[in-house]
Amino acid sequence: MPSKNGAFVAVWSRDNPDTGEAEFALEPEDFEAIRQGYGCASCLADFNGVWLKKCPVCGEDRAQSELVVSQWWTSRSAV
Ligand SMILES: [Zn+2]
Repeated sequence: MPSKNGAFVAVWSRDNPDTGEAEFALEPEDFEAIRQGYGCASCLADFNGVWLKKCPVCGEDRAQSELVVSQWWTSRSAV
């Protein structure tokens, strides 16, 4: 999915009513880009193909790949 305004677009998102945390899902290719370090796992900034250790948008250090969980791009529907 093409990024919008320099950020990846979640195909699905919600606020978890139990934990209050934001949950979202990404397209598989967007997920892969973030997992490989070409996007921010925190604010979803798209680095446009540039590998950055630290996000220029929110300042977040790149998430460890093990923190990028596969359920982000499962296209489940909100319950
Ligand atoms: Zn960020």
